[in-house]
This record gives sequence, C-alpha cells and structure tokens, in this order.
Amino acid sequence: MTSGLVIKQEANFFSVAYQDQTYLCTVRANLRKAGRGIKVGDRVILDHLEEERPVIRELLPRSSDLDKPAVANVDQVLIVMSCLEPDFNAMLIDRLVLSIQYEKMMPVLCISKADLIDEDLEEWIREEYSVFPLKFFSVESGRGLDALREQLMEHVSVLAGASGVGKSSLINCLDPEIDLSTGEVNQKMGTGKHTTRHVSLHRLQWGERSGWLADSPGFSALQLPPVNRAELADYYPEFQPWVNQCGFKDCLHQHEVDCAVQENIDTDSERYYNYLRLLEEVKDRYFQRRDSSTKKESLTKRAVGKNITDQLIKLGTEGRVRSRRTQRQMLEQIGNWSEVDDETIEAMNPDEWRI
Ligand code: GDP
Ligand code: ZN
Repeated sequence: MTSGLVIKQEANFFSVAYQDQTYLCTVRANLRKAGRGIKVGDRVILDHLEEERPVIRELLPRSSDLDKPAVANVDQVLIVMSCLEPDFNAMLIDRLVLSIQYEKMMPVLCISKADLIDEDLEEWIREEYSVFPLKFFSVESGRGLDALREQLMEHVSVLAGASGVGKSSLINCLDPEIDLSTGEVNQKMGTGKHTTRHVSLHRLQWGERSGWLADSPGFSALQLPPVNRAELADYYPEFQPWVNQCGFKDCLHQHEVDCAVQENIDTDSERYYNYLRLLEEVKDRYFQRRDSSTKKESLTKRAVGKNITDQLIKLGTEGRVRSRRTQRQMLEQIGNWSEVDDETIEAMNPDEWRI
C-alpha cells in the first residue's frame, strides 16, 4: 500500500509527498463523486505511481481537522509568544492551549525573542508551563533554534501567535523559501494578496529526519471552544492526577471544600487564576444566552465587562510575579464580574485595575 501526504493543492491537482519524492496527482472519479474533499495534510493512498499522473485512490481517516488554516492531521501547534515586545501574555497562551487541545493537537510553547528575557521571567514561565513542551528561542542570538528544529521533526505543525511575536522571523530562519504571507496577515495589511491561496506544507530537513510545517498560521480567533464548565478542567493536564479525588463528583475546583485539585496544585499560579477566569467566561456565555429581557442593559453590561476583561488581561501580563497578591485581591473583589450590577461596574475606574 502506497500512502502519501498531501502537501499542496492547486485547482484539481494535489502534490503528494511519498518517500523522498513529490508527485502531482489527480483524484479518482469515485472519490470525487462521493464528495470526499481532499485537503492539505491528508494521508492518501496512491495508484499508478510509476505513471505520468498518479491518482489518489483513497483518503485515510484524519486525526485532526483544522479549518483555519485548512490542514488535516496537524499534530502539534507551536504557540509563538514573545517574552517582550509585545509583552508576554499568559491568558492568551491559556486560551490558545485550550483551543489547540480541543482540536486534538498538542500545544508546544515557543517563547520568542529570548535574547530580551530576564532570568526571573524565564524561571516563572518554566514554573507555570511545565506541563507543556516549552522552548525558548531567539532568531537574534540563535538560542534554542536547534531544539525547535528537533521539535518539528516527524510532526505536521502549524504556528500560532499574535502579530509581531516573531513568527515570520522564525520561519525565515528555518527555511527562507517559505513565505508566511498568509491571507489573514495580508487582509489586515489591506493588500489582499494571497487571500485565495491554499495553505501548503513544507518539508523541513534536519539531518536524516524531516518534519512538515504549514505556511499559514492558525488560531488567531480567541473565541473559546464550546466546552461547558464541567469540561474545562479536562484541558488542564496538571489537574488530572487529582480530579477523581475531589469530594464532589461535579467539583469545578473553584471554591468547593474537599477539592483535591486545589489542595495539590499551586493555587497561586497564573494558570490557576486564568482557569478561574475562563470558568467564569464559560458560565457567562451560558447565562448570556438566557439573558434576553433587557437587551439594551445587557449590551451595556457586556461592553463594560469586556473593558474589565481587557484590563484583567493586562493585569495578567503586567502584574506577573511581583504583584500576584494584589492581583488576587482584585480578582477576588470582582469575582463573578458578570453578576455585578451595571452601576457598580460603571463606577469602577479602570485605572485602578492597573498596577
Ligand atoms: P510576526 O508578525 O509574528 O510574523 O513577527 P515578525 O517576524 O514580523 O517580527 C516582529 C518584530 O520582532 C520584527 O521587528 C523582528 O525584527 C522582531 N524580532 C523577531 N525575532 C526576534 C528576536 O529573536 N529577537 C528580537 N529582539 N527581535 C525579534
Ligand atoms: Zn475539585
């Protein structure tokens, strides 16, 4: 059986990598008729390899299926987050990590611009994110680049991360042939270039080994995946040794008594605080759907609420270690901010939420 990897699509032709070669293939008629769309990243079975135009005979089941970018079988997502410029943002990481795990892929944290990092921050990040693969790198100093190449081997990977964190610089360093000028980026810049281009996978060679990297970043949307509040903890690997030992079967590990998670993890960590905030957000999303009586009121509330969320995200970033206690007090003060009435929210001076 000859199974290959679809790495590029152009009109009705697919480039399929098989061993060290790439074959331009068509799709067998009955597969097309069955409406089984083939996309980049698909593993397929080929016929007539020795002929001029090999044919994709069969599509193998997908282990993951991303829409943006449209790639199947991605197994890891490299979250690129700068330690500075723009500031490190733990909440953004936690949201991305959640979405990536939800899509059945592995998040790999890649902290960029490591030439700018200070020791305390590095140590803190190592403590907070020890449950995930974690790499520090700098294209300026060359630190960590080999370890990143190593991480990419034998995987199909996509990059994720806000603009300005150094994704293009990294790709350029890994393989200058790859052009990360994606639809998304160019739409923002208003050029519209490449917006219709399909994503492609690029082979990265490292000694005898190789891996595949998509030339379009994913996960720019920050919407939380549709998990309910009871499911949220499933996405926290650090909770897993304890979740079955909590006193209540439906424990949310929030403020319940006899909670083995709270007893065993570091409840002073940013990760845990972000968990509490995401839990509120998940609950809030649920209650918002119910809330149809006073539409205008609820709109104001959401707008003001968003403002506070933004401030809190800033707190999460700027506050870091130094101010964790203050931050905790503030978070506890507002607690379920969605349940605080509008007047109180409006009376709050956003500047007070900064440190
Ligand atoms: P992207 O928007 O994520 O693709 O980010 P870019 O690759 O365009 O980088 C944004 C800015 O960060 C550019 O000015 C780069 O020169 C800078 N940058 C990228 N990598 C590094 C690095 O390792 N160290 C430092 N100090 N700056 C970097
Ligand atoms: Zn619990």
